[in-house]
Amino acid sequence: MRIGIIGAGQLGRMMALAGIPLGLEFAMYDRSRDVPGAAVADIATGRFDDRSRLARFARGVDVVTFDWENVPVASARAIARIRPVWPPPRALEVAQDRLSEKRIFERNGIAVAPYAAVDTAADLERAVAALGAPGILKTRRLGYDGKGQVRLVRARDARDAYARLAGQPLIYERLVKFSKEVSLIAARGRTGDVETYPLAENVHTDGILAITRAPWPDTRLQRLAERNHSRLMRALGYVGVLCVEYFVERGRLVANEMAPRVHNSGHWTIEGAVTSQFENHVRAVAGLPLGSAAPRGHAVMVNVIGAKPRARELLGRPGLHWHDYGKSARPGRKLGHVTFVTGGRASRDRVARQLRRRLIPQR
Ligand code: AMP
Repeated sequence: MRIGIIGAGQLGRMMALAGIPLGLEFAMYDRSRDVPGAAVADIATGRFDDRSRLARFARGVDVVTFDWENVPVASARAIARIRPVWPPPRALEVAQDRLSEKRIFERNGIAVAPYAAVDTAADLERAVAALGAPGILKTRRLGYDGKGQVRLVRARDARDAYARLAGQPLIYERLVKFSKEVSLIAARGRTGDVETYPLAENVHTDGILAITRAPWPDTRLQRLAERNHSRLMRALGYVGVLCVEYFVERGRLVANEMAPRVHNSGHWTIEGAVTSQFENHVRAVAGLPLGSAAPRGHAVMVNVIGAKPRARELLGRPGLHWHDYGKSARPGRKLGHVTFVTGGRASRDRVARQLRRRLIPQR
């Protein structure tokens, strides 16, 4: 079976690295051949809205998935007329717009931060008057890693904040005073079988994921997150890996956003779980039985952003795993990640602190 992946970044590359041992083959489609996936698959090039090139690509594979949630929905629907596309294009459509994402959460009884859609300066004034400040004004589309966001400390910041993002659909959200950020990842197979990973705790710096520790043990919130996930996956007819990111506020889960794909907060599963998120995603897409998502121990994953440490230095430490995405260094760019898995929480947390000091620029 040949799996086509739209997008050939590090996520696509890690999918292929997980699927090749299962006898699966991979082809990828991206705008250029200078992409992390080029090391493991043939790359077809073209724009993401070039229907004829996408159609040719789709005809060369058995099933299509994606590693990027901003694949145009119209392209995904066009491909779906040629080959099965998993996760379903509807999941892309929902996840591409923060407003529709909030609505699907609400329809499924999942708490979200108070929000209002903003199209004009007057809308923002009204939203801030109704919901209060502090808050965050976000672009509804194409925001990622904290981009397309402006924080409002006071109501009178509204005018400046609006001026910075005006001209596109926006959303204003009240700032959540969270004690933690966590995420849940699960895979759903074609027959509706589900494998769910334990909650992971995430720390972001400048809106970019810096560090994940898992499992984050909270049985009550795990159950709640699993209930939310199963409602969403059923509502969307989902196949593949789905991630939902949450704030923990006064002991409750407030959903922030969903990613209809493998997710950075699940990279720890490569060494830290019986079956990685990447392997379970490709198993689901290929129609194979899923593997256990049980953790193998206590894991920490640290993103390497902007500048690459020397592999020799990282690998000199017993137990440390280094994943180099093969990208050139650029400020703010995710270049790789480091994982450490151990039997005890305390030793995991000690290593997490060391890795953090070593790999994350301190401010
Ligand atoms: P996002 O792009 O929505 O994932 O936002 C990136 C990061 O900004 C989140 O992981 C949070 O750390 C922070 N953030 C976003 N929205 C809110 C909010 N409503 N309240 C508090 N923090 C937020």
